Amino acid sequence: MSYRGRYDNFIGGEYVPPANGKYFEDITPVTGKPFCEIARGTAPDVDAAVAAGWKAFPAWGKTSPAERANILNKIADRMEQNLELLAVAETWENGKPVRETLAADIPLAIDHFRYFAGALRAQEGGVSVIDEDTIAYHFHEPLGVVGQIIPWNFPILMAVWKLAPALAAGNCIVLKPAEQTPASIHVWMDLVRDLLPPGVLNIVNGFGIEAGAPLASNPKIRKIAFTGETTTGRLIMQYASENLIPVTLELGGKSPNVFFEDVAAQKDSFYDKALEGFTFFALNQGEVCTCPSRALVQKSIYDGFVADGLDRVKKVKQGNPLDLSTMIGAQASNDQLEKILSYMDIGKQEGAKLLIGGERADLGGDLTDGYYVQPTVFEGQNKMRIFQEEIFGPVLALTSFTDFDDAISIANDTLYGLGAGVWSRNGSQLYRAGRAIEAGRVWSNTYHQYPAHAAFGGYKQSGIGRENHKMMLDHYQQTKNLLVSY
Ligand code: NAD
Repeated sequence: MSYRGRYDNFIGGEYVPPANGKYFEDITPVTGKPFCEIARGTAPDVDAAVAAGWKAFPAWGKTSPAERANILNKIADRMEQNLELLAVAETWENGKPVRETLAADIPLAIDHFRYFAGALRAQEGGVSVIDEDTIAYHFHEPLGVVGQIIPWNFPILMAVWKLAPALAAGNCIVLKPAEQTPASIHVWMDLVRDLLPPGVLNIVNGFGIEAGAPLASNPKIRKIAFTGETTTGRLIMQYASENLIPVTLELGGKSPNVFFEDVAAQKDSFYDKALEGFTFFALNQGEVCTCPSRALVQKSIYDGFVADGLDRVKKVKQGNPLDLSTMIGAQASNDQLEKILSYMDIGKQEGAKLLIGGERADLGGDLTDGYYVQPTVFEGQNKMRIFQEEIFGPVLALTSFTDFDDAISIANDTLYGLGAGVWSRNGSQLYRAGRAIEAGRVWSNTYHQYPAHAAFGGYKQSGIGRENHKMMLDHYQQTKNLLVSY
């Protein structure tokens, strides 16, 4: 394994012990055992990291777009050369299957750096002619030092979604990883640290209240970007309001996956693809903000489609995440495991019908103490808690709908609006459903694709702002206007 035994905070280009001298254990969900210790950062560490960022900013902020793009591309190259190392590190810390970290998480992160290197090179300023003698020049300028707080479900990719545009735009960064998965990003940092000047990227480890809150409320940062739960997002916005800084919030979801009756018109490859789409609630152990955690199936095909769908769920192989054939691995932490099990109880108590799963999975041997749960499907009504609250596990809440309007009404009957899937052979129906569902990303006849050049973010309580896409550069820049009379 590529991990060191201990990770301090990374400040000003050096690993620095935490001010309070305290550390906490990082536990692998694969076996439930600790494997390294992590600095328990607090406010003084955050202050030191923010100061290091401002020290580096005058030089970094003035590097040319070509220089920064070059560095981003070199980071991407370095990651590509170490793909396996990064994929295994993330799998070991998060519990997700290595086939996904190898094929999706790390390649997407690499592409993100390349995409923002290109977007930066293509970015242009503007000139407006005000009158015969007067010209207004519009410049993009970096914000300064920005804070970024990330969750544990894609430890490297969620960091890179924020790091790549912020670095491209010329900002310095203080990043706080999730306390459940703090080490993978240090494995990445060790690989690329020589490519970034000291202080450009600083990492303060620690818990939400102890390290995250001092970062989000730090008066010297110029923006806070956060990904995590909606309840935490509300707090982040409160902290940010004290200093009147912009926020980007990527929050929770309860995404509907809608199957219209024409998917079952023939038992062909399209039908097969839709059935695969039905199983996607279990992908990444359901620990995806856009997890299609509610399935809506049209009444006329309900029984047959659901029976075939459940057969497919039974074939999704669960096992050791480091095994290349494993499709579902371990939940990321014991807390998360307990939360999922408690929602299984809630589903049973509120009268939902358990169709499959519903318990912790004991995979035996070394994995007995790992955090595994069975992929689970409940049938019920959209008003139930298991339909309304984010479980963040491989638990599907399944219901039926009568017609198009009923489908849209159920799909939109939630606080959230992050993702959605619609499946139909009818292009016009797909388009109308895609427009009518209140979500920032609607997949049609596909799901779970996250290309760098497609804007991503939430409607309603799923967030504020967008990530990915070149528009992110704007979120990490401010506009300087020079109005000149000649
Ligand atoms: P979380 O809100 O508990 O924690 C996220 C991060 O915030 C962690 O680093 C944590 O330490 C920090 N934090 C917690 N309390 C804080 C506070 N008071 N002040 C500052 N920082 C604080 O979320 P989580 O459980 O780590 O992640 C799962 C959640 O993330 C789910 O709700 C999921 O939907 C969401 N998510 C959203 C997206 C998206 O793009 N919309 C992507 C991934 C995950």
